[in-house]
Amino acid sequence: MKKATKIVSLGRDKKWSKGVVNPPVVRASTVIFDSLEQMSKAAAGRGKGELFYGRRGTDTHFALQAAIAELEGGAGTALYPSGAAAISGTLLSFLKSGDHLLMVDSVYEPTRDLCDKVLKGFGIETTYYDPMIGAGIAELIKPNTKVLFLESPGSITMEVQDVPTLCRIAHEHGLMTMLDNTWSSPINCRPFELGIDISIQAATKYIVGHSDVMMGTATATEQYWEQLRENSYLLGQCVSADDAYLALRGLRTLGVRMAQQEKNALEIAHWLDARDDVDHIRHPAFASCPGHEFFKRDYQGSNGLFSFVLKQGGNKKAMQAFVEGMEHFKMGFSWGGYESLILAEFGIEKIRTATQWDSTKPMFRVHIGLEDTEDLIADLEAAFARYHAALAN
Ligand SMILES: *Cc1c(COP(=O)(O)O)cnc(C)c1O
Repeated sequence: MKKATKIVSLGRDKKWSKGVVNPPVVRASTVIFDSLEQMSKAAAGRGKGELFYGRRGTDTHFALQAAIAELEGGAGTALYPSGAAAISGTLLSFLKSGDHLLMVDSVYEPTRDLCDKVLKGFGIETTYYDPMIGAGIAELIKPNTKVLFLESPGSITMEVQDVPTLCRIAHEHGLMTMLDNTWSSPINCRPFELGIDISIQAATKYIVGHSDVMMGTATATEQYWEQLRENSYLLGQCVSADDAYLALRGLRTLGVRMAQQEKNALEIAHWLDARDDVDHIRHPAFASCPGHEFFKRDYQGSNGLFSFVLKQGGNKKAMQAFVEGMEHFKMGFSWGGYESLILAEFGIEKIRTATQWDSTKPMFRVHIGLEDTEDLIADLEAAFARYHAALAN
């Protein structure tokens, strides 16, 4: 099956959909059994698609899990109430006191805080590494290193990692590899073919796609699936059937949304790149983005998210003038919905410890939605005018 066909067809098996197009919302805590025999059969098959107890999921969840597992290319998918829960649930399912974790320096800020505030308290030590370290990762591996965690491209600064090289070295040293694969969604990167053992998605972003549900997924290889599934269950991780339904509904248009948002974003990024006041574009498809060569080699496409850096001379007041008063770009966290967003980025240097970030140049992150690019460009044009007026003041 080709990608577009998979997006439409996966998870629609009759055993879940019961003959209608979309698997219905099956809300449940308690499952009723007719006999002891049926009960023990369900207990034996729990976690393997047998209806057992609400926390283990119902047909709505099973359909979503099957679709994501196959799209990502893994053996099974666990569902979580947010992307952050998927990250913590995955790390806590495999790390124990005394273990050492290698974490990419350009990681999503709450993941860094989880390491520094929660994992540290459990006696799990974290070392941050340069996203562009490549084969140099070998020097940071200690006898107690258990997990190599990647996020590619990195949050905000967008460095694309050399995933196959990092995974090869990690495996040579007996480490397991985890990837925050949110930027690619399950369709623009084949993480398991690159050597990843567990691929994590903030489904909140492109899978749900409509800015109305929080959800996370973690998909594992055969080797790690059982431990991930059981430990996530023990950590109490589950999602509502209504949210699982909405995630499945969002998934069906993932391909066309991403393709259009990629096209819109590239058009706007090229428009920005041609401006004299723009220093450079942080978009994996641009040569100015660190790791651009790995993007070309390992990824099948991009999306609506990128950052851009202005030339020297900005200040907070001017950046405020840029983002306040926009008509179409809304100011807000998150991304992956159908709408355009903008953020003025401050203090990146404070969330980098293994690398240095030059914060003297103003940076903005945009998420390009499904609006007409002419309207979005006019909105940005007016923002630049406000910016320069504020600088001149
Ligand atoms: C948003 C995001 C998360 C967290 O997802 P939530 O659903 O908001 O908890 C994790 N990783 C990345 C890269 C993200 O962008």
